[in-house]
Amino acid sequence: MSLKIHALPAGVIRDFPVSAVQYQRGFGVTHDTPMIMFVITGGEFPIVVDSGTPEPEFVRKHHGYDFERAPSEHPRESLRNIGVSPADVGLVIHTHLHWDHCGNNDLFDNAHFVVQQAELHFAVDPLEPARRAFENTEEIAPTWSPMLNRFRTVSGDAAVAPGVSLISLPGHTPGSQGVLVETDTGKHLIAGDTIDTRANWEGDSRSAHIPSGSFVNLSDYMASFAKIETLDAVVVPSHDPEVLEKGVFG
Ligand SMILES: [Zn+2]
Repeated sequence: MSLKIHALPAGVIRDFPVSAVQYQRGFGVTHDTPMIMFVITGGEFPIVVDSGTPEPEFVRKHHGYDFERAPSEHPRESLRNIGVSPADVGLVIHTHLHWDHCGNNDLFDNAHFVVQQAELHFAVDPLEPARRAFENTEEIAPTWSPMLNRFRTVSGDAAVAPGVSLISLPGHTPGSQGVLVETDTGKHLIAGDTIDTRANWEGDSRSAHIPSGSFVNLSDYMASFAKIETLDAVVVPSHDPEVLEKGVFG
């Protein structure tokens, strides 16, 4: 068994504030921020980690971002490019349930969806400032809600397939998690938004690692950083252009 991680483009938010992804930094500075869907191949069946973004018009209307996703970046097309049929995907892991990580669950008719129990509980009735990020408002319901019968939850770390484990990393959201993948080139951690970009992980003169500008519990977040340090894994951030340029890990 030789597992590989594919990073697939799922659209770009133009001129996204750096302060949204770097705590107390980057005010007034913006950059284009890619959305990424990950696929683990080489096991019994393909495993999707985060299902990408909803339709661009929906994103612009309900989130207000200057969002672009080329037709070639529709998840169906991205999967076709690496030879994966959505019908073959047996498992979709959500690092968390923010809108840009779970927008295409309807593609995967034969999959179960795995999320931390704390995340699902929060997403059903988020605190008011978080409702839009979870697409749970008076106007819209989460796009994954019709598939709730195929959701399965875990609490804490858990192995889900040979060489693939969930690592509980709360802080960005109550039930954020990473996915640890054992590849021929070592362990890799698909980090979710706990680590948006390489700059978050590498830190600066003020702190060893930089949290996202968006979090629910900073103490939990720092403990999650400390936990990642013990994993001895290559960190794969969630919104970093360099991840898409490399494309394949393992
Ligand atoms: Zn997020």
